[in-house]
Amino acid sequence: MELIHTVAWMRQVAAEARRGDCPLGLVPTMGALHEGHFSLVREAKRQCSPVVVSIFVNPKQFGPSEDFQKYPRTLDADRAALENLGVDYTFAPAPEQIYPSGFRTAVSVEGLSDKLEGRSRPGHFRGVTTVVLKLFEIVQPRFAFFGRKDAQQVRIIRQMTGDLALDTEIAVCPIVREPDGLALSSRNAYLSAGDRRAATVLYRSLDALRREISAGDRDVVHLVATVRKIIEAEPGVALDYAEIVDADTLEPVMALRKTCCALLAARVGNTRLIDNALIEPAGESFIVTL
Ligand code: AMP
Repeated sequence: MELIHTVAWMRQVAAEARRGDCPLGLVPTMGALHEGHFSLVREAKRQCSPVVVSIFVNPKQFGPSEDFQKYPRTLDADRAALENLGVDYTFAPAPEQIYPSGFRTAVSVEGLSDKLEGRSRPGHFRGVTTVVLKLFEIVQPRFAFFGRKDAQQVRIIRQMTGDLALDTEIAVCPIVREPDGLALSSRNAYLSAGDRRAATVLYRSLDALRREISAGDRDVVHLVATVRKIIEAEPGVALDYAEIVDADTLEPVMALRKTCCALLAARVGNTRLIDNALIEPAGESFIVTL
């Protein structure tokens, strides 16, 4: 595996790789890699060759009072793991490579970016789309792999690739969870033992939602109230939002009809975690995927 630090070198290597017979795949990450990331890498390896994994803790997607400085950085371990997975290139640029002095451009997907996560984290998605477009432009992958863990992010990036007619297809991979249901996240490293136990409440609330939907409940107000009640009953956990939204518009729905998403965010101790469930119509019933 080759470790690449500069935009110029990454661009050149990717240009050569695109001349091959197989599609080039990109897995964008912020590092501190875990099984969630590895599942994306394995899927990328299945569909693409070569595979580029980017590791870049993107300052523009962190708010001024967020955890940019203390975000876990574990490049040596990440690199060894990616080597083992048979990744061809790891692109780990310094911030000045991506944002040289005088950088002034931003990409923003209107409407979808200021709801839900965007409401709680103003400017977050603008930072995400700006860096993802730049990575797409440097690597020009045929496929890019993202996790449904960040469902709103996937929706926004798909909108961006469509609007800008980018020649990169977005592949979405399932959420990888711990045995007790907690979605893997680099931020789980911040959780104390007590926080870690409490953090399962996100999954437990979505699992309760799934049970209610299978039992025939279609009343969104009631379903959301169930999720809220479970989370609000957990000591040390502060709910930020819990909403059931249309998967396309991200607008709250009144009743379950089309494909929807239950999205939630909560602070567990000092750590902000997100989770979601996909709710898809299947004949008269719905399939809820956690
Ligand atoms: P991050 O390093 O947090 O920016 O995540 C990089 C990519 O990994 C994003 O597409 C995430 O959605 C994905 N990802 C993070 N955690 C998980 C998980 N538990 N399951 C699946 N994908 C994940």
